[in-house]
Amino acid sequence: MNEYCPEFRVHCSSKDLGCSSFRQKNELINHTNECSFEDLRPTIDFLHKKIRNQSSYIEQFLQQAKQEKIQLEEQLVKERIQLEEYIKLQKSQHELVINEIEEQNTQFQLICKENQSRNNQITFFSDQITLLEE
Ligand SMILES: [Zn+2]
Repeated sequence: MNEYCPEFRVHCSSKDLGCSSFRQKNELINHTNECSFEDLRPTIDFLHKKIRNQSSYIEQFLQQAKQEKIQLEEQLVKERIQLEEYIKLQKSQHELVINEIEEQNTQFQLICKENQSRNNQITFFSDQITLLEE
């Protein structure tokens, strides 16, 4: 059976839209004029186009979000390194200040001892003077 045979049956041109008509060619012409699926073609085409646009928009959005995620992660790593360096610097500065305070404390104690020793000397001499005066 070939397409010139009158019995040759063909599918409706709206098969892709879901029409299941499978008829002889001359019958099909009548069907095509009243096929309800064909009426839907503009709407379905429009919806397909819309879905394609939205899909590509979503794909774009996903790519953008992926890139932003990478950038944020890079920024986070950079900021963490900066923060760690800042903390290290602060720590070493604090240690410097503590060392300075400890050194001053040591010097202060030395001065206190010296003062104590001078006080002792003064007391000794003042006792001597008192003794001499008597
Ligand atoms: Zn049809």
